[in-house]
Amino acid sequence: QECASLSSRKRVHAGRQRILDALRLSQEQLLDVKRRMGEEMNRGLAKESHDQATVKMLPTFVRSMPDGTESGDFLALDLGGTNFRVLLVRVRRWKRRSVEMHNKIYAIPQEAMQGTGEELFDHIVHCIADFLEYMGMKGASLPLGFTFSFPCHQSKLDQGILLKWTKGFKATGCEGEDVVTLLKDAIYRKEEFDLDVVALVNDTVGTMMTCGYEDPLCEVGLIVGTGTNVCYMEEMQNMELVDGGEGKMCVNMEWGAFGDHGELDDFSTDFDKAVDEHSANPGKQTYEKMISGMYLGEIVRNVLLEFTTKGLLFRGKLSERLKTRGIFETKFLSQIESDRLALRQVRSILQHLGLTSSTCDDSILVKEVCSVVACRAAQLCGAGLAAVVDKIRQNRNLPELKITVGVDGTLYKLHPHFSNFMHETVRDLAPQCKVTFIQSEDGSGKGAALITAVACRIRDAGQR
Ligand code: ADP
Ligand code: MG
Repeated sequence: QECASLSSRKRVHAGRQRILDALRLSQEQLLDVKRRMGEEMNRGLAKESHDQATVKMLPTFVRSMPDGTESGDFLALDLGGTNFRVLLVRVRRWKRRSVEMHNKIYAIPQEAMQGTGEELFDHIVHCIADFLEYMGMKGASLPLGFTFSFPCHQSKLDQGILLKWTKGFKATGCEGEDVVTLLKDAIYRKEEFDLDVVALVNDTVGTMMTCGYEDPLCEVGLIVGTGTNVCYMEEMQNMELVDGGEGKMCVNMEWGAFGDHGELDDFSTDFDKAVDEHSANPGKQTYEKMISGMYLGEIVRNVLLEFTTKGLLFRGKLSERLKTRGIFETKFLSQIESDRLALRQVRSILQHLGLTSSTCDDSILVKEVCSVVACRAAQLCGAGLAAVVDKIRQNRNLPELKITVGVDGTLYKLHPHFSNFMHETVRDLAPQCKVTFIQSEDGSGKGAALITAVACRIRDAGQR
C-alpha cells in the first residue's frame, strides 16, 4: 500500500518536472541566446540587412550626456505602458542631485488606446492642459520632451515615425506617421497653448540619461516593466543608417522583437505560443513576451492550466477562474516568491484568485512554477544584456570593460529574485565585463527633461 502511494507520488513528481523542464534553460542554451542576439544586433546596424533584422537598432540622435550646465524648466510626457504622466522638471545648473519634479498620472482609457489616433492624442493634450492648470501655469509655453516608448524611426531628435504599436496599444492611423506631428496637430486643434516639442525620447534612453547624470560610466539603459527594451552608446562608424562617422550615438535596440524570425523557436514552449496567440500582436515581440510584466503572469496561468488538465494540480479540477485570461497578474509572482511568505499565504493568494480547491502540495507547485518562469525571464534578459556589454567591450578593443547599466521597470525593481538571476547570468556569460547596475528614479520623466535640456543648451550655444 505504502509502496504504491510512494511510487505514484514519484510518478506525479516526475510528470511535473517534465513539464517544468521545458522552461529551464542550460548554460549552453543561454550562450546561444547571447550569440544570436549579438548577430541580430549587427544585422540591425548594417544597411543591407537592416530591413530583415528583428532587432532594429534604431538611431536616437542622442549623442551627448548632460554636462551639468543645463538649466531651465521643462515639460515631459511619459507614454508607453501602464500609465500616462505629465511632468514639470526644473533643472538647475550644477545641482545634479536636486532636480525638482512635479507630476500627475492620468489613465489612458481603453477607448483611447484602441480607438483612433486623433482620439488618443486629443486625450493626451487634454491631460497636458489639465496639468498646466493644476500647476497654475495655464497657457505657458515650455520646451517639451516626449517619452514615447514604442519603436520609432527617427531621422532627427524631434521627429519619429511609429513603426508599430506594442504592449497592447492599437490606436488607428498612427503607424507610419510622425508622432511629434500627431502631438503638434492635437495641440493646434485645442487652440489653448503652444509647446516647443524638442525631443522624442524612448524610455530606455531617458533611463540611461538619468543614471548617466550621476554616473558617467552609465552607457546602457534597460527597461523591464510592462515591456522590455535596451539602449546603449554605439560607435557612429558602426551605424550605417546614419551619415557621419565620428563619436557615438545612443541606439534604441527595440530588442523585444528578438525572436520574431524564429531565433527563439528552440526555447519557446506551448505556454509561450498560447500567450502569443491571444495577445494584441500575435507573432510579434517574441522575446518581450518571454520576459516582461505584461506576460509573465499569463505564462504562469497557462502552465497551471496544463498541470490541472494533466491531473497534477488542483485535484485535476479546471475552474472557470483558472480559464480566465489575465487573472494571474505578474505582481502575484512577486508576492508568491517573497521569501517571507509562508506557504499558507501562497494558498490565501490562490484563494483570493478564486482558485479555492488548493492543497498545501498545490501551493508548493504553484510557487515552483512562478519561480521557474521568472528565472527563465531573468536569464533570457541577462543573456541579451551579456551580448550588449560584450559588443561595447569589443567595439573598444578592451580585454576588460567597466560599465554601468541604468535600469527601470517595476518587474525588475519589485520582483524578489529577478534582478539577482539577471545579474548572475550577465556575470556568467560576459565574464570580461564588470557590470554595475543602478536603478533609475523615474528615468522616463526626468530623462526626457534632461535630453530636452541638453538639446536646448546646444541649440542656444549655436545661436550665440
Ligand atoms: P511601464 O513599463 O508601463 O512604464 P512599470 O515599469 O511600472 O510601467 O511596469 C508595469 C508592469 O509591472 C506591469 O505589467 C505589471 O505586470 C508589473 N508589475 C506590477 N507590480 C509588480 C510587482 N509587484 N512585481 C512584479 N511585477 C509587477
Ligand atoms: Mg515606464
